[in-house]
Amino acid sequence: MADIATGKGFWRGLLKPRHMLQILVWPCFCAVLAGLLWAGMFSQLENDRRRLEHTLLGQTAALARAVAKGISLSVSHVDELSAALQTHWERTSHPGDDALFHDAEFARAWLSFVGVANRSGQVVSSMQGAGALPNLAADEYFRFHAQNRSRALHVCTHCSAQDRGDAIIFSRRLDAPDGAFNGVVMLNVKPSYLTSFYDRASFGNSGYLGIRGVHGELYAASLGGREVHQPLLRVGPTLAEPSGARLVDHSDRPRSDQPRLVAWQQIGNFPLFVVVGLSVEESLAPYRSVAVNYTRGARAATWFLAIFALCGALASFTLVRRKHQAQEIRDAYRLATEGANEGFFFLRAVYGRDGTIVDFLIEDCNRTGAALGGVAREQLLGMRLSALPSVSDFMIAAEMPSQIATGRRAMQEGLVQDEWAAAPSSSFRGMWLHRKIMRVGSGLAVTLRDISSAKAHEKNLLAMAHEDALTKLPNRHWLMAFLPLALARARQEHHQLAVFFIDIDNFKQVNDMLGHGVGDALLHVAAMRLKAELRPGDSLARLGGDEFTVVLEQIGDAGDARLVAQRIVEALRRPIEIGTGTAVVGSSIGISLYPGDGEDVDTLLRHADIAMYAAKAAGKGRYCFFEHEQYQSILERVETQSALETAVRNDQFVMYYQPRLSSISGKICGMEALVRWQHPVRGLLPPKEFIALAEASGLIVTLGKLVMEMVCAQIEQWVQMKLPLVPVSFNVSAFEFNNGDVRGQLALCIERHHIHPQEVEIELTESTLVDDKGDAVNALAAIRKMGVKCLVDDFGTGFSSLSQLQRLDTDILKIDQSFTAQLGRTKKAETFFRAIVSMADALDMGVVAEGVETIEQLHLLQLLGCKEVQGYYMCPPVPGPVMAGLLAKRFMMTREGVLL
Ligand code: C2E
Ligand code: CA
Ligand code: CA
Repeated sequence: MADIATGKGFWRGLLKPRHMLQILVWPCFCAVLAGLLWAGMFSQLENDRRRLEHTLLGQTAALARAVAKGISLSVSHVDELSAALQTHWERTSHPGDDALFHDAEFARAWLSFVGVANRSGQVVSSMQGAGALPNLAADEYFRFHAQNRSRALHVCTHCSAQDRGDAIIFSRRLDAPDGAFNGVVMLNVKPSYLTSFYDRASFGNSGYLGIRGVHGELYAASLGGREVHQPLLRVGPTLAEPSGARLVDHSDRPRSDQPRLVAWQQIGNFPLFVVVGLSVEESLAPYRSVAVNYTRGARAATWFLAIFALCGALASFTLVRRKHQAQEIRDAYRLATEGANEGFFFLRAVYGRDGTIVDFLIEDCNRTGAALGGVAREQLLGMRLSALPSVSDFMIAAEMPSQIATGRRAMQEGLVQDEWAAAPSSSFRGMWLHRKIMRVGSGLAVTLRDISSAKAHEKNLLAMAHEDALTKLPNRHWLMAFLPLALARARQEHHQLAVFFIDIDNFKQVNDMLGHGVGDALLHVAAMRLKAELRPGDSLARLGGDEFTVVLEQIGDAGDARLVAQRIVEALRRPIEIGTGTAVVGSSIGISLYPGDGEDVDTLLRHADIAMYAAKAAGKGRYCFFEHEQYQSILERVETQSALETAVRNDQFVMYYQPRLSSISGKICGMEALVRWQHPVRGLLPPKEFIALAEASGLIVTLGKLVMEMVCAQIEQWVQMKLPLVPVSFNVSAFEFNNGDVRGQLALCIERHHIHPQEVEIELTESTLVDDKGDAVNALAAIRKMGVKCLVDDFGTGFSSLSQLQRLDTDILKIDQSFTAQLGRTKKAETFFRAIVSMADALDMGVVAEGVETIEQLHLLQLLGCKEVQGYYMCPPVPGPVMAGLLAKRFMMTREGVLL
């Protein structure tokens, strides 16, 4: 992935026109904005300037008018004064008359010269005295007056500067009484008098004020308050346009001057003009500062936009890069998965107004993914999940809301994995799919894998796990899955339901005696018979061992269950042919009913089990409905079990010993060790109260070890007491013999207590020694090899035949007390004894008759040649110390059987 992210290809992919456009959109936008801003500002400034110029031109014209008015007043003074001088002179014609200039005296400040010239141009009188003044006959104004009869004030328009002597010459014609030209009166006004109207407040620092004649001549000018000789306008104002205003920037102005707002105005009716020129720069100064502010603002805005554009471009770039990277990853992932059989989708979350995810957009998918849904990839891209059903029944239209909900969950949790079976009607055609949804950024990466074959395999395994290999019936797993459903149905349909707990009677014996092969065959037949007795809707399962369960659904009442149970009991009572032999078993059935006996699986099964125990307790081969009273006995059983565990832990057992006597001499020739439980509450308990339970629970192995230890310890003690010892036999149950290490333990025990192997014997029932594989026979041989003798206990009750007896490599046969009890009552018992005794003799085995209770039985046994006897008649089992006393005596009865 790093290669993808840094390689040239990455940049090439990233800098596609589409991406460039996305990146440059912000800078472009900002540039346009900045352009608009500047253009707007410039146009605004231009408008402002124009408006201001217009206003300023108006103001300049007003200023020119105001100044013209002022000057016009001053010129009026000159007019009046000259008129007075004219009249006065014509009346008096008296040179040097002080009175003549008396009136002009007040204007001395602004008049540089006031005088009268005679008709020949000679100054004859002046305010300054008539001294050496040049002849004026050649001067323009003199000639004007000489030639024109007008008596009005004349302004010398064509006077040269020298003529004027730096003054503006106003003159009037003097007439002789006869009306002939008689000279001129003239007043020279100082130009500064007229330009004194220049004030800084109106004109600024570099304003211009000029007085010009009608021919463009300049009389006076002030620039910034200083006298200058600059005309400002190259072409002066004319009488044709007595007032006006315009902006003079490039043309019509001396090159040395600056652009100005110029206005002119004729001074009264005099041939004089005021020209006012205000500096554009100065006038527009406020505008300029505004413009500067504007520009500054625009510049700041431009910077801001530039930074904004940069940020925008950067952000866009990052976004584009991220998108591109994500795209690359997706592409890579898609390419990677293209070959695989995994469908890949990339979904983008679509949010609603309230910010919740309302849908997903398929941004990408690989061909396998599209093919899984049965459509082309191109068709899927850009589609919404909710719109999928419109293109096909893709992804199970009916499940669409849950698809979106799952997507939402994946967005929250980061990862969701599940498996689902598509509906057969969908484009997935009932496939099993594994779905993995992973959150990646703001989207989801979804992979779909067809796991149909794995599922089929799983289903097979499941079926196998739910099937009992031996009988092919459903097993316990199946039952535990099935029963809740059956119960739910019964609950919904208000039916009763019956659960049968079936146990094959005496199966253990058959199995132990005839071997597992026969046992298996028997179970198989039992299963077939059970099945044959059931209705099609009933269910049968094998729980394990010889336990079966039947579930009857939709039964009307207990009577229906009773009928089925009866049929089963009958069916299993019939003898079962297996191989060459025939086995007769039977069955005990416990029945619990829903809802009367329980409403859940556990309760119903437990109660059926209890009822089954009740059936067993009542004598097997029958059925029993569950009753609450049965609880008690089962409870006791459970209690005893736990008490027994404590007893084994706390060593609450003692040994009793029952002697075995020679039937002929009455001498003690052996003894049997019999265990007793010293119960803390119930007192001394005989083995029938606990051995079966210990065997069933496996506790017998530990208990057996305790017994062996106590027996060996007792022998050691008797040896130490120097008693005439006889062999002591102890009982080993089948389970213990087959599941524990009796030989090894015994060897250790013998060694630990320093006793001889000949001093111990073990008693085993026939069934313990009959097995398929011969393990028990081998173990027995090993024990005998140690020098420990072996007795066959309860001989005659099992299934062993005389032929089998030969195979049993044992030392002594203990004929079961049931045969002894029959002695004297039936001939059959005697025949049995005789046969056994003769065969035992032939096999060099000893024979012991158990359960001898009467002297008659003893005598019969003596006659039948049975050499050893054991029973209450001679002696019941007694505690160790009592036995020690008996041992010391050696003999317990006379040859006639009289007890000593
Ligand atoms: P068993 O091995 O057949 O032991 C003989 C049983 O018959 C003893 O019963 C004994 O008290 C009883 N008995 C003796 N003489 C007579 C008689 O004249 N008439 C009658 N009716 N009974 C007589 P107990 O002690 O109650 O033991 C019962 C069974 O418990 C034993 O039968 C044996 O199978 C088992 N058992 C006893 N102790 C042990 C033991 O330490 N380990 C194992 N595994 N089983 C034991
Ligand atoms: Ca015994
Ligand atoms: Ca016995």
